[in-house]
Amino acid sequence: MDEITVKQYYNDYIIGCYGKENFVFVKGKGPWLWDINGKKYLDFFPGWAVSGLGHCPTRVVKALTKQLKTLMHVANNYYIDVQALCAKKLIEISFDGKVFFCNSGAEANEAAIKLSRLYGAKTGRYKIISMRNSFHGRTLATVTMTGQEKYSAPFKPLPDGFAYAQFNDMDSLRSCVDEKTVAVIVEPIQGEGGINVADQSYLQSLRDFCNRNDLLLIFDEVQTGMGRTGNWFAFQHYGVQPDIMTLAKTLGGGFPVGAMIAGKNIAELLVPGTHASTFGGNPLACAAAIAVMETIEEEHLCENVSNLSVWFISELKKLQKKFPVIKEVRGIGFMIGMELEVPGKDFVERCRKNGLLLNCTHDTVIRIMPPLGIKKSLLKKGLGIIKKSLKEEFNN
Ligand SMILES: *Cc1c(COP(=O)(O)O)cnc(C)c1O
Repeated sequence: MDEITVKQYYNDYIIGCYGKENFVFVKGKGPWLWDINGKKYLDFFPGWAVSGLGHCPTRVVKALTKQLKTLMHVANNYYIDVQALCAKKLIEISFDGKVFFCNSGAEANEAAIKLSRLYGAKTGRYKIISMRNSFHGRTLATVTMTGQEKYSAPFKPLPDGFAYAQFNDMDSLRSCVDEKTVAVIVEPIQGEGGINVADQSYLQSLRDFCNRNDLLLIFDEVQTGMGRTGNWFAFQHYGVQPDIMTLAKTLGGGFPVGAMIAGKNIAELLVPGTHASTFGGNPLACAAAIAVMETIEEEHLCENVSNLSVWFISELKKLQKKFPVIKEVRGIGFMIGMELEVPGKDFVERCRKNGLLLNCTHDTVIRIMPPLGIKKSLLKKGLGIIKKSLKEEFNN
C-alpha cells in the first residue's frame, strides 16, 4: 500500500477519534522507526510508553512466536500455565498480593474502582478521590476519575462517586474526604498531566492518612511502571507501598496487557461473578509480559535508566540555561518533562523533521521517554537533535 491510499482508507473507513500526525510507520527496531518512505526516526516516545523496551524487542518477539505456535487462547474458566507464571513473577517484583489480568490501563483502573467499591460496601462507602490533571483512561468510569474536565464533560451525566483533589497537596485531599470516601488514586508521576512528580513527603503523608482512615491507596503505575523510573515501579522509588496498583503500557512490551495488583486481603473480595475479562491474561499476553520482565532483569534495564538519566537530565538542564524558552526540566529516570514557556506542538514537529520523535502533553510540556535500554551514544544523538531544533525554532 502507498501512503496516499493508507490515508484515503483512514478517511473513508476509520472513525476519526485520534489526532493524526502525518506519518505512516511501517517498521521498528529498538529505538528506531521507519516510515513508509524509508526515512528513519529516533523514537524517544515509543508507543506512548508501551514500547518501553523499544520496538520489536527480541525476547518478546521470540516468546510470542513460540507461544503462537503452542496455544493462542483459552478462556479464564481454565487454568493457564503462562498466566500462573506471569502472576508469580509480577508479585515477586512488586508486593505481596494477587493479580487480575486485563488488556489495557483503563481496564486495570476500572477493576480498581470495582474492587474499591466492594471494599467499601460493608461500610456504605464508595467515593474515590483522584487528582486534578490526572489521567486514568477513557471508559466512562475512568474518564470520570480522570481529573480533567475536558475529557469527561461531553459525556455527562457521569457516574457518581468521584471527587478531585490537588496533586501534591494534603490539605486539598483532606477537604475532599467525607464519610463516603473509600479510596484515593494517584499517579506517582503524572504523565499525561505534564510529568508532575509527587513529593516524597506527600506520598508518605498520603499513605499514613489512608491507614488512619481505612482508605485504600491506589497507585496508577500504567505509565510509571516496569522500569520507567529506574525501579520496577515508582512506588519503590518512594518506599511507599499502595494497596492496589494498576499496570499496562510497557507491561506487554508492545502486546496489549493490563494488570491490577491488590493486597491479598482486598483481592479476596473479587470472587467468581464479580469481575472478568474475556481476553485478560491470554497466553500470548502473559508470554509477552514474562519476556518483558526477563528482559528488564537480564539486560539490567533499571540500572541503565538510573545510570544514564542523571546525566541525561543534567544535559537537558544545561539546555535550559542556553534557551530561556525552557521553563523547567523535571522527572525521574526516563520519565522526563521539559516544560516550555510556549505551546510545544511546533517544537515537537520541528524535532520530527530533524528525525526525533517526542510528545507534547498538557500544551507546553515536552515528554521525553526513551526506551529503557537505550545507549548513551543514542541519547547524545537525541540531545543533539533537541538542541538543533531549539535553535531553529526559537532563533537562538
Ligand atoms: C495510558 C494511561 C492510562 C490508560 O491506559 P489505556 O491502555 O489507554 O486504557 C491510564 N493511566 C495512566 C497513568 C496512563 O498513562
